[in-house]
Amino acid sequence: MRENKVNIEFESRSQNESFARVAIAAFVAQLDPTIEEISDVKTAVSEAVTNSIIHGYESKKMGIIRIEASLHDNEVTIAIIDHGTGIDDIDKAREPLYTSRPELERSGMGFTVMETFMDELEVISHKGSGTTVIMKKKFNAIS
Ligand code: ATP
Ligand code: MG
Repeated sequence: MRENKVNIEFESRSQNESFARVAIAAFVAQLDPTIEEISDVKTAVSEAVTNSIIHGYESKKMGIIRIEASLHDNEVTIAIIDHGTGIDDIDKAREPLYTSRPELERSGMGFTVMETFMDELEVISHKGSGTTVIMKKKFNAIS
């Protein structure tokens, strides 16, 4: 039985997106993942953190982003939490190609990417109180 948990908090600055990606890659390394599995997790974390920075905190009000990552056997659970603007209509936000910021040349594919690269994606959000994205992925390598 393998168990482990880390929590990370950082300011919503764009340079912390790469910090978060690398930190989570280092955490999942203990599961002996393939290069592809590591890359999938990094991509999904990067999309969620970017969303918290540019949508949640609208790239201006500095806020705190928290990541809670845990392992249970060969499954990793990663929660990305912000206390920013929140999402009005979660179903619409999750649709491929939907973006509330076309003027920023966003493509509206972030949630679709997270869904594709992870096994499960849950989005909890309330307008005005922030957003929590919970993603799970099982790693195949048995060690
Ligand atoms: P892309 O990710 O392709 O650059 P995008 O960020 O607009 O474009 P998604 O990541 O799929 O696309 O997000 C869809 C929409 O959900 C966003 O346009 C935004 O309105 C909303 N959203 C996503 N994450 C958050 C968040 N953390 N806080 C507030 N709104 C969010
Ligand atoms: Mg996005």
